[in-house]
Amino acid sequence: MLKFENVTKTFDRNFKAVDSVSFEIEEGELLVIIGPSGSGKSTTMKMINKVIPHTSGKISINGKDINSYNVSDLRRNIGYVIQQIGLFPHYTIEKNIAIVPQLKGWTKQETKARVYELLEMVGLDPEIYAGRYPKELSGGQQQRIGIARALSANPDIILMDEPFSALDPITRGQLQEELITLHQKLKKTIVFVTHDMDEALKMGDRIAIMKDGHLLQIDTPEKLLHEPAHGFVEEFIGRHR
Ligand code: ATP
Ligand code: MG
Repeated sequence: MLKFENVTKTFDRNFKAVDSVSFEIEEGELLVIIGPSGSGKSTTMKMINKVIPHTSGKISINGKDINSYNVSDLRRNIGYVIQQIGLFPHYTIEKNIAIVPQLKGWTKQETKARVYELLEMVGLDPEIYAGRYPKELSGGQQQRIGIARALSANPDIILMDEPFSALDPITRGQLQEELITLHQKLKKTIVFVTHDMDEALKMGDRIAIMKDGHLLQIDTPEKLLHEPAHGFVEEFIGRHR
């Protein structure tokens, strides 16, 4: 449903941040992209929702070139969660999550029902949290709001760029479990970026390994562990075997 064909992103001075990357993600799959800092993970993500336009190659969603989608339709169909989630500080949690449903013209009641449903989905009691402000929430709770907001328009694809990196190990583990459960329930297509191999092995249906803009290998965790296709992959996952 999401397909990259020889996708390249060239920034100034002919520097290729992403170099001829090809892969395909099935509907409902959770793909993890992992690689060292600067390997092109975030650039890959941002090309999917056209925050960064790709230089060459083709990106398509459900068989249709992303360049032929209207940008706001495309973005509404793609939830985006990042490390610094960027909730609006002067808006309550309810209002933060309701932004997209309101843009879609839902009624007040429909919007509120949806916000409450989403809060429950991410494990926060709406009666307690809907009326709070972002600064009254812990980091882990704020990331949960980020996930709820990304789900608010019921997108087909969710992009998550190191969503749990700033969290303590215990909260991080909890959110990983919750996301796995949510993914099994909602069956959304998720692209999840991390540079933590434990997280990748735990979360990914498949894992894509990037280095210097290249996609070195994309395979199931099992296959990566036992049949690394590249010396760097072997080194990168070495201690996990
Ligand atoms: P990290 O793990 O540190 O987040 P990453 O894999 O997400 O790294 P990217 O952010 O995709 O890496 O960056 C890939 C390369 O592209 C880097 O060398 C970066 O400096 C470069 N780059 C990213 N954005 C731009 C830009 N707007 N202009 C020029 N170069 C850029
Ligand atoms: Mg990044």
